[in-house]
Amino acid sequence: MIDLHTLGTSSAVPTSRRDLAANLLNFEGERLLFDCGEGAQKSIMKLQIGLMDIEKVFITHWHADHFSGLLGLVQTLSMEGRERTLHVYGPERTGEFTDQMLNIGYFDRSYEVVGHALEEDEVVEGDGYEVRPFKVQHSVPAYGYVFKEDEELKVSKTKMEDHGLESGPEIGKVKNGETVEIDGEEYGPGDLCEKVPGRKIVYTGDTAAHERIVEAAEGADVLIHEATVTQEMLKGRASRHSSSLQAAEMAKRADVDKLILTHFSRMFDKDPSPLLEEAQEVFEDTELAEDGKHFGIEPHRPESEKD
Ligand SMILES: [Zn+2]
Ligand SMILES: [Zn+2]
Repeated sequence: MIDLHTLGTSSAVPTSRRDLAANLLNFEGERLLFDCGEGAQKSIMKLQIGLMDIEKVFITHWHADHFSGLLGLVQTLSMEGRERTLHVYGPERTGEFTDQMLNIGYFDRSYEVVGHALEEDEVVEGDGYEVRPFKVQHSVPAYGYVFKEDEELKVSKTKMEDHGLESGPEIGKVKNGETVEIDGEEYGPGDLCEKVPGRKIVYTGDTAAHERIVEAAEGADVLIHEATVTQEMLKGRASRHSSSLQAAEMAKRADVDKLILTHFSRMFDKDPSPLLEEAQEVFEDTELAEDGKHFGIEPHRPESEKD
């Protein structure tokens, strides 16, 4: 299972209930942090979801509500004796901003922190996944990110049943590309396996509604979309933020499985339900992110196993 933890859901300023933008993705033990607003490291500690194991940080844009937790995180990891490099990715000037942050105060680091300004569509390759940035529409250079698990060859239970086979060590070899003989019959990957597309999780960061989001989120398992205000309140913000209605329209057009709304204006601090209700009118499978909420994304099954 891929574990997604929404850590902070407030826009612009933290509130007594909500921290600033941060989302942790745990993919087979590797932790990727998407945005690192103030409060992120404390939430990760409270939830005990692997502060020391963070490998990469993806900053959507350099507004403080999306990066203000980074300095504290970097320092804590050093106090705890981290040795491996921490990579920080983001839009233009990410290298420069990261270096500036590292030069504040008196502080010897136990490890390297490297900032990378990604070109649009410059893919960050990981073990079994990739992360690709895409341009969104905000008041400063800003990216959303597509996390995509690699396609995988999987054994189809349905195909095994069709051949009257039961699982065993021989079947595992077929998955690795070998042809095996069982009861006098030969079976190769083409007989028993299917290529299964990987899971896809898309995070917009701050953005106005834009066609590029629909393209990037096409067929995603989860779209985490900002929903700062309702449609009625969007006036004056429409060039840099989205309403929950617009987020729902993006989700519907991109045909995603689930929409998660986040980045709520503090006017919705106590009760964000109007944002949810507005979105669900257009896209039913919508949920609100909450600080510390967990979402599990199950592995995909071969097409032939689906009902
Ligand atoms: Zn923001
Ligand atoms: Zn912003």
